[in-house]
Amino acid sequence: MAVDPICGMQVDEKTATITKTVNGKKYYFCSSNCLAAFEAPEKDFANLKRILMLSAGLTIVILLLMFAVNVPYENYILLVLASIVQFYPGFRYYKGMLDAFKAKTANMDTLVAIGTSAAWAYSVYGLFTNSNSLYFDTSALIITFILLGKFLEDVAKGRASQALKKLMDLTPRTAIVVRAQGEVEIPVSEIKTEDICIVKPGEKIPTDGIVIFGHSEVDESIITGESMPVSKSIGDKVIGGTINKSELLKIKATKVGQDTLLAQIVELVSSAHMSKVPVQRLADQVSGYFVPAVIFVAIASGFYWHYASANITFVLTVAVSVLIIACPCALGLATPTALLLGIGKGAEAGILIRNGEALESAGKVDTVIFDKTGTITEGRPEVTGLHLMQIEKPLFLKYAVIAEKGSSHPIAKAIVDYSDIRLEKHKEAESHQIIPGKGVKAKFQNAYILVGNKALLKDENISIDGFEYEIHDLEMQGQTVVLVAYNHKFIGAVSIADKLKKEARSAVESLKKQGIDVYMITGDNEKVASHIAREAGIINIFAQALPQDKLKKIKELQSHGAVVAMVGDGVNDGPALAAADVGIAVGAGTDIAKESGGIVLIKSDMRDVISAIKLSKYIMAKVKQNLFWAFFYNVAAIPIAAGVLYPITGTLLNPAIAALAMAFSSVSVVANSLLIKNFKVRK
Ligand code: ADP
Ligand code: MG
Repeated sequence: MAVDPICGMQVDEKTATITKTVNGKKYYFCSSNCLAAFEAPEKDFANLKRILMLSAGLTIVILLLMFAVNVPYENYILLVLASIVQFYPGFRYYKGMLDAFKAKTANMDTLVAIGTSAAWAYSVYGLFTNSNSLYFDTSALIITFILLGKFLEDVAKGRASQALKKLMDLTPRTAIVVRAQGEVEIPVSEIKTEDICIVKPGEKIPTDGIVIFGHSEVDESIITGESMPVSKSIGDKVIGGTINKSELLKIKATKVGQDTLLAQIVELVSSAHMSKVPVQRLADQVSGYFVPAVIFVAIASGFYWHYASANITFVLTVAVSVLIIACPCALGLATPTALLLGIGKGAEAGILIRNGEALESAGKVDTVIFDKTGTITEGRPEVTGLHLMQIEKPLFLKYAVIAEKGSSHPIAKAIVDYSDIRLEKHKEAESHQIIPGKGVKAKFQNAYILVGNKALLKDENISIDGFEYEIHDLEMQGQTVVLVAYNHKFIGAVSIADKLKKEARSAVESLKKQGIDVYMITGDNEKVASHIAREAGIINIFAQALPQDKLKKIKELQSHGAVVAMVGDGVNDGPALAAADVGIAVGAGTDIAKESGGIVLIKSDMRDVISAIKLSKYIMAKVKQNLFWAFFYNVAAIPIAAGVLYPITGTLLNPAIAALAMAFSSVSVVANSLLIKNFKVRK
């Protein structure tokens, strides 16, 4: 039984809509549909605590009996106590060994089970042959220490998932909705799209929507990490979970339930630790061979010392120590804890890293390509002038608008907004054809309207004689010149300009400072492109690139060994985003599910590209440190356990100390991941 942190509903295996098991962990999906997956509570946790207490208590008694007090039948009491520890708290390791064995593998449980069984069995043998060498303390201590490690690890993991709980807590619970009977307060899970919600000042916006009444300041910091409130008025998009600061707003719900941005972010973060980074795969592969290898080393060193005529106690100590110290139980923690905390950290700042692959590549990026429109520029181009060829302005605009109505390109929006023309039904085009990287072609009253660049008109053999010079002039000033043709005749042009983003220059500069090559790519022509690039401080440009050229350029850079991040708005550069080592989609608005980027930046701020790369590098460093602590640390200790230092020091590694060291390696991994909490995503 678990309580859904969002709606407070009690969920268990029967009432959960779906129960999913990944990597042996169970996940529930709340049936009220309010939330993505959340981790089923480890039924074991309370259990684990109890078993640990029992194991520790018995072990203390065993130690007292062996070293402090003398009682009658002491050895038999020891046998009973140690056997309880061995087969009750220690049962999980036998079970784990068996499960692994069935799957034809061996894992850490195998090592613990064999190691402790050896110590226990040898003590039993000693007891009945009266050989006086009893090691019941060893097997009990190992089990207690390993349980302690697991317990501490669970405590620390609980702290790791607090980041997720914090995010979940942001989801509003109720909303005021306008219904036939008036305004009613309903649970957020019952809002439907198209519902009108009333959001008073100081309240959370209940779901993703569009403002239909009022204007106010909205605090979006929980989604974007940006502390400055954003002003919202009619027609603006708002995000569920953000806070309405000053005036009453009415919004129309556009996305509800699982489709809202916040729900998607929660889903993303909650599945983050299931994601794998490629380096972990390597570690997994190695660990497949690792356990059998350790068993081999344990046996081999046992034989060695036996032939070096050490006594059986010595031989056993070596073998058990090797088995225990080498146990790679922290390995399974190395990546998930770092990813959960790191990806959660990014999400708080509006930087959504979607999976381990994107993370690993982003950490290695040495080349960043920015799309121009909407990425380096504001993406809100405005009409700066009209250039008409013997045609009246209203008619010219009418043709342009009829064609552009069929396009979602920012240029189209600029022209439509500028004209202020509302099309009547019969003035709509019969058909639209989008010609990527060039413009649009619309059929209207048996004639074609073309709106686009020179290439478009050239394709149709329409001459723009006499206008070339003016185009050149405008383009030198950074203006995009959009040509309009009607019925095979060039009828005029619209000049359009898009402002450089204010942070562009500083963002490019800091990327370069980090040794990253910066490129700009655009479908726009050379002159406009170089004008913008110069302002942004970018030297490398690819202009007049059709969508497939963008792809080719990326492949070309990759073939020279570059690790490429492509940054775009994800609208017409989807294929390029997908082809890059890591696609970074900016200004995603409210639909991260559709984006093809491996990283999605909710804010459309170029500096977040640097933050994303830095964060990825940082998380990857943590993953690698963790793998080191979990793995190489164990490997390095094997020779010591095997008695390599014995001829010098004259002492062996105590198996109980080996168990403690191993528990420490798990805890150190989790603690190292917890340090991610202190990372500043934006400096
Ligand atoms: P980018 O996003 O890199 O600026 P696009 O591939 O979207 O490039 O467009 C390239 C060029 O094609 C634009 O600069 C413009 O000249 C022309 N174009 C594309 N779509 C339209 C449109 N709907 N209306 C007018 N021109 C367009
Ligand atoms: Mg574009």
